[in-house]
Amino acid sequence: METIVPDLQLIALNGVNAYLWTGSGGPTLIDTGFPWSSKVLLQEMASADIHPKDLQSIIITHADIDHVGGLPVILAEHQTPICCHAVEAAYVQGLKAKRPNPSLVGYLIRPAVLLLNRRYKPNPIEIDTLVIQGQVLPEDFTVMHMPGHAPGQIALFHAERKLLIVGDALSNRDGKLRMPPKTFTPDYAQTVESLDKLRALDYEVICFGHGPPILSDAKNTINTFMQLLNE
Ligand SMILES: [Zn+2]
Repeated sequence: METIVPDLQLIALNGVNAYLWTGSGGPTLIDTGFPWSSKVLLQEMASADIHPKDLQSIIITHADIDHVGGLPVILAEHQTPICCHAVEAAYVQGLKAKRPNPSLVGYLIRPAVLLLNRRYKPNPIEIDTLVIQGQVLPEDFTVMHMPGHAPGQIALFHAERKLLIVGDALSNRDGKLRMPPKTFTPDYAQTVESLDKLRALDYEVICFGHGPPILSDAKNTINTFMQLLNE
């Protein structure tokens, strides 16, 4: 685990980041990695002396398998309350499958995606807290609804800490800021529109679902990226 800022640890899980928040309202796990990283996730949490029974909440940024895959293993140990956006709940529960990207590749990979989802479909789980845009969570994060890559994708903004956790609204893969991969994005244009919401926020640090965080002057870096995107 890596400390990003006080009270926020990054847990690296096979190319995906989960986060452990131990500030106000916590301990809270933000995303859970792939199903096959579950053991590492539990070990990493244990290294900080946090066990599933200690968690106040698990916040899911969106229901892709690389973000919800660790849920069954944690829930098997303790029925931790789960929090996600209202429209993402059915996807987190495995009741609905995300639409494919409307392209040939999107449809070609569809059977594999559905197979993977079915293979790792969580047991019936309850979502305890359904959230919407602007809602403030007990951890003092404000929910930002960022649809596009997933209908109920959320970012989490901590105003006092000037901290933003964006899930897959954008990434920092291979040393470069990127939009989410089109192949796995049902509505790419909407992902670009969603980024506009970040302009109103004052943040210094940004954390991604994929790739290392930006630890200073993040807002300027992201604004420059958005400008290039719109050129
Ligand atoms: Zn992802």
